[in-house]
Amino acid sequence: MTDNGCGGKGTCTSCGGDEGSLDKFLESIAKEEALARIGHKIVVLSGKGGVGKSTVAVNLAVSLALSGKRVGLLDVDIHGPSVPKLLKLEGKQLESANGKLIPVGYQSLKVISIGFLLDEADDAIIWRGPMKAGVIKQFVEDVAWGDLDYLVVDCPPGTGDEPLSVVQTLGQADGAVVVTTPQELAVADVRKSITFCRQLKLPVIGVVENMSGFTCPHCGEVVDLFKTGGGEAMAKSMNVPFLGRIPLDPKVVNAGDDGTPYVYAYSKTPSAASLERVADSVIAACETDANSETETVSMKIAVPTSDGQVCMHFGHCEEFTLFDVDGKSKSIQKAEKVTPPPHEPGLLPRWLGERGVNMVIAGGMGSRAQGLFAEAGVKVVTGAPAEDPESVVTKYLAGSLETGANVCDH
Ligand code: ADP
Repeated sequence: MTDNGCGGKGTCTSCGGDEGSLDKFLESIAKEEALARIGHKIVVLSGKGGVGKSTVAVNLAVSLALSGKRVGLLDVDIHGPSVPKLLKLEGKQLESANGKLIPVGYQSLKVISIGFLLDEADDAIIWRGPMKAGVIKQFVEDVAWGDLDYLVVDCPPGTGDEPLSVVQTLGQADGAVVVTTPQELAVADVRKSITFCRQLKLPVIGVVENMSGFTCPHCGEVVDLFKTGGGEAMAKSMNVPFLGRIPLDPKVVNAGDDGTPYVYAYSKTPSAASLERVADSVIAACETDANSETETVSMKIAVPTSDGQVCMHFGHCEEFTLFDVDGKSKSIQKAEKVTPPPHEPGLLPRWLGERGVNMVIAGGMGSRAQGLFAEAGVKVVTGAPAEDPESVVTKYLAGSLETGANVCDH
């Protein structure tokens, strides 16, 4: 028993003689302290299993870590903990120190998974209700997470007791990313996930439509094999943000089988670009100043053009088209053509920065310009096709822009 020196006899003012309530009091302080060190808590939900929830959770966590954030990944998908496999951490066992579980490291990522409790990857866990709630609670509260900017939680699928326990144990989470696929059934299920979030007052950061279209393994083109767009239509009808589409991509399966997150292994693919945008939306949702008057994330995207098409050589373009984009509805509000000053190394990043540009989509760009943009916090996408700039930006916003090699990386 833990007491305040009175042995639970009521001679101190803290415990009032009730051993149980003192323990509970200390426990609640410990929980608050542990949770206070976690900046933002994001839950990844899906209406049903097999839609790519764990794949999105892992790659979201890695993308956040790649953006320089301190990230924890908590896999509490009790019935199918796939995070150890996706990160090649199978067979790792949890250790503890000072009464706290120590997360397993994957590069800078701190990982806890129900899978680390299994002796063999194929073992099944038969948990009764209170045990499930207990282990979820322990994984949130009794882990030496340290200071984290983000804790990404891979929840069990559905809207039952298990995701409910997760959300309740986390206290006030920042929001949920809901993963769905284009098929009707999954979309119908995902509506329940959104209603579930609303009932728990958990903000919906947005919906991701996974396995939407198919990336051809030969030419890399994204083909609409099955019905796509259901997730986007559903997000619109339920008035929640749509975070983009991730095509069905054999490379995603390979990456999962190899235990390397595809945002690392195939960073130039449309799937990785879509995932990076999901991470950007999560950062924008969590870090946009709540007191700021701008509630939506607005973007200014610059596209270098020559002969009305995306120019392959950033520094030698004829003009730029600047697009004002409403980040919430992901729509172009305004397009304006501007002529740049004569070419001079290092000038264009400053010139575009002065025009409020926070993103550049280019065919190719030299490493010096890329470095200057990175320093100024301007995101750069290279390898865009030589097409009309509006269609390139529209595809980018819809998550369907295919990028190739950076043709100007001299
Ligand atoms: P869930 O967590 O929803 O059960 P997983 O993330 O475990 O789903 O994914 C289920 C399977 O689908 C895995 O084999 C994974 O590699 C595959 N998968 C997920 N997303 C994609 C995608 N965009 N393209 C191809 N395969 C995918």
